[in-house]
Amino acid sequence: MPHFAARKRSRLHQHGAVLPVVFMRSSLEPSDAIYDFTLEAGEPWIHKIEAGQIFRIVDLCGNQAVDTFFYNADNTAERYSATDTIVGQRNIYLTTGTRLLSNLSRPMLTITADTCGRHDTLGGACSTESNTVRYALEKRYMHACRQSFLQAIVHSPYGLSKRDIGSNINFFMNVPVTPDGKLTFADGISEAGKYVEMRAEMNVLALISNCPQLNNPCNAYNPTPVRLFVWQGGK
Ligand SMILES: [Zn+2]
Repeated sequence: MPHFAARKRSRLHQHGAVLPVVFMRSSLEPSDAIYDFTLEAGEPWIHKIEAGQIFRIVDLCGNQAVDTFFYNADNTAERYSATDTIVGQRNIYLTTGTRLLSNLSRPMLTITADTCGRHDTLGGACSTESNTVRYALEKRYMHACRQSFLQAIVHSPYGLSKRDIGSNINFFMNVPVTPDGKLTFADGISEAGKYVEMRAEMNVLALISNCPQLNNPCNAYNPTPVRLFVWQGGK
């Protein structure tokens, strides 16, 4: 969750225009999934997803920020690139059809279903430093997404360290850019049960910090769990 964004529950209308959103439902059934895990608020998670498998994140209670990063599982020097993804699709928002590109401009995953409609990849993850700037000096000691990322990777067997954390995706976050080029406080668009689903185009490591932020009104000061599914897929 970026530290500057605040959200309320409403529709996607900004500056008199309806912003581009693409809603797409999935036909996959949770009962057919090969992996089903509920990730509590504030917890880290890392998991390997094989090429062809389908990965779904469900916002169980609504307006939760799911900070996410991907590595090529076979070569972790290749990892998600917000820059390549934005340039590749000529759009700053992520939704159905978005190919999540690596720093080598290769597709890592493709978003195949999305009932939320928009996800952010500009705002980055909250950190103890940003908590002090945004909220108060004493907030420095509160848990933040960058710490969850670090906790997940240093305790994993993949040889990753602090320098391997990059600019991430904030699934279910709405961080629009205004006509004058600024990132704004924006109304949230996610609701309980909304989900985003993506097909792995290579073997990937999915890294998540289910944002622990307690200072931002965007989640009503109440971070909530998400549910993670993987299906075998047909590739
Ligand atoms: Zn966060």
